[in-house]
Amino acid sequence: MDHFFETRFSEMKSDGVSDVGVKRAETFIHDGEKFLETYTITETFFEKSVQKARSFVEDELDVENLDTKVFIVPEERRKDFLQQWRQLGFIAGDNDNGFYEPLVNSVVVYHQPERFHEVTFEATLVHELAHATSKKRLRLTESNNHTLVHTDRIGFALIASNFGYFLEEGLAGSLQAKYLQLNGSEDQEFWEDFMNSLRTVTKLVDEQRPFNTVLQIGDLKIPASYSIFDRNDTPPLLTTPYLLFGAAFDLLCQQIPSFRETAINARKDHKSISALAQMINNQFGKGSYVYLQKKGYYNGPTDALETYKYILERTK
Ligand SMILES: [Zn+2]
Repeated sequence: MDHFFETRFSEMKSDGVSDVGVKRAETFIHDGEKFLETYTITETFFEKSVQKARSFVEDELDVENLDTKVFIVPEERRKDFLQQWRQLGFIAGDNDNGFYEPLVNSVVVYHQPERFHEVTFEATLVHELAHATSKKRLRLTESNNHTLVHTDRIGFALIASNFGYFLEEGLAGSLQAKYLQLNGSEDQEFWEDFMNSLRTVTKLVDEQRPFNTVLQIGDLKIPASYSIFDRNDTPPLLTTPYLLFGAAFDLLCQQIPSFRETAINARKDHKSISALAQMINNQFGKGSYVYLQKKGYYNGPTDALETYKYILERTK
């Protein structure tokens, strides 16, 4: 049991969570940690990629020594992994490329070299590690046989509810896109595939700044930096709800001075979350913060599309 959890458990106790509840959470977390350590390939094999992603997140979000553990699951073991992971009582989506599990302060990313280039894999690591940077104050809920633990995150994103994902995913998506922009041209295979694909989907390729090339997605125009290159899809350049939230988040940062800085502060300081809410309401009118924060991803990309449109239409 590391220091991180000792602190959180004492917080739980001071919040009035019963000893039995705390004991259950402890056992649950212990089993999860043991499972990850024995089941997955640890970060050693992918040390270079993990180190790059980790340093990037530390620099961008002003964190020293991000102590989150990283586990990589080879794609062919995903199904088996998920089945056993859920048997332990943890939650994870079927189609995500990775996730952050605050209960065990760990990031899990699937390694799918046949689908994604190395730089895309690293950008996914960046996305998940970004989630790991919020101050994790665990809140315990007993439900059936499970002990669910909720965390306060940038926008109070709550597990088992659709509320609060916009800012949380927005920040993670924003960093994911930024990492790709900064490192994409160094991955030669990615770069060639990306450029070829851009030329296939639009004639208006900005050859100097290809990531700024605008892609038409439905009735929406979005810069190519918020797309993900997935070899399994046709066309291979697609966007995801997470990256759309990132695009919307970056629009806010461009419009509101100190928005990004306040969002970063909100990782550890809950007062900054109120400040963010005020900034959004001042910009777009009363109620806009709650409107945006109700946009989650339970409806697939619909909510993220609406978030992006809402902000884009109000961008001068
Ligand atoms: Zn995410």
